[in-house]
Amino acid sequence: MSNRKLEGQVALVTGASSGIGEGVALALGEAGATVVVNYVTKPEVAQTVVDRIVAMGSKAIAIQADVSKEDQVQAMFLKTIQEFGTIDILVNNAGIQKDAKFEDMTLDQWNAVLNVNLTGMFLCSREAIREFLRRGLVPERSVACGKIICMSSVHEIIPWAGHVNYATSKGGVKLFMQSLAQEYGNRKIRVNSIAPGAIQTPINRAAWETPEALESLMTLIPYNRIGKPEDIGKLAVFLASDDSDYITGTSIVIDGGMTVFEGFATGG
Ligand code: NAD
Repeated sequence: MSNRKLEGQVALVTGASSGIGEGVALALGEAGATVVVNYVTKPEVAQTVVDRIVAMGSKAIAIQADVSKEDQVQAMFLKTIQEFGTIDILVNNAGIQKDAKFEDMTLDQWNAVLNVNLTGMFLCSREAIREFLRRGLVPERSVACGKIICMSSVHEIIPWAGHVNYATSKGGVKLFMQSLAQEYGNRKIRVNSIAPGAIQTPINRAAWETPEALESLMTLIPYNRIGKPEDIGKLAVFLASDDSDYITGTSIVIDGGMTVFEGFATGG
């Protein structure tokens, strides 16, 4: 079936029980992938994502792990490989914000964001790459040996006052992704980022939950709508599939035009 272009491949999505991660997990499942739904809390919510993927005719399981903890990440990959034999696609999606004015930012707020948003990507990507290299290329599954997709943000481009820890982490994701793509391109491992603008999820509820907040948000978005997790899901399927086989080391911005800086539309 042409729309099940990830059939036979195993994908692990971190932070997949809400928001963008949920949207990506569902889209990968719809495209035929077997999906590992990683979560930290609320197993029952992760299970509803699993159930929806299974209802689409694909396999799925939920695995609990805090991506910032080495032992938990290693146990998650071990379980994935025991259950499904290998892993073909990793989506490093888990991310948090701990916002504060810089002079008030605590070390805990700084560390929490860097640990999840950046160290989590390191720990998960290292396990995925070890498995890709162990398994090698399986041409019947994909022309690439493995695919990693990092969930970055327009804040790898746009500085963000009041969110220095978050913007720092996403700036770090950019060179993390590009350096990995450079290091493993000759092993046919592709590494890319998705850089979303404003997507309607729990992480940014304050920006869309009242009509006033939404109106203010729209002044930043030329395309005049907030993004949906499904928008990101479609892009993740493309980046995970052989349709994007010549794309590596790139961050694809998906933001309704936020990074064309609408504030300058009338000359600045
Ligand atoms: P969200 O809060 O719904 O999702 C974040 C997910 O990460 C949650 O499921 C959470 O449980 C999980 N998570 C948090 N800490 C974790 C940990 N230690 N281990 C494993 N999982 C953990 O928000 P979202 O908007 O869906 O965010 C997903 C990603 O998208 C994040 O990396 C975020 O930075 C990025 N992003 C979001 C937007 C947006 O507008 N929503 C824009 C740009 C980038």
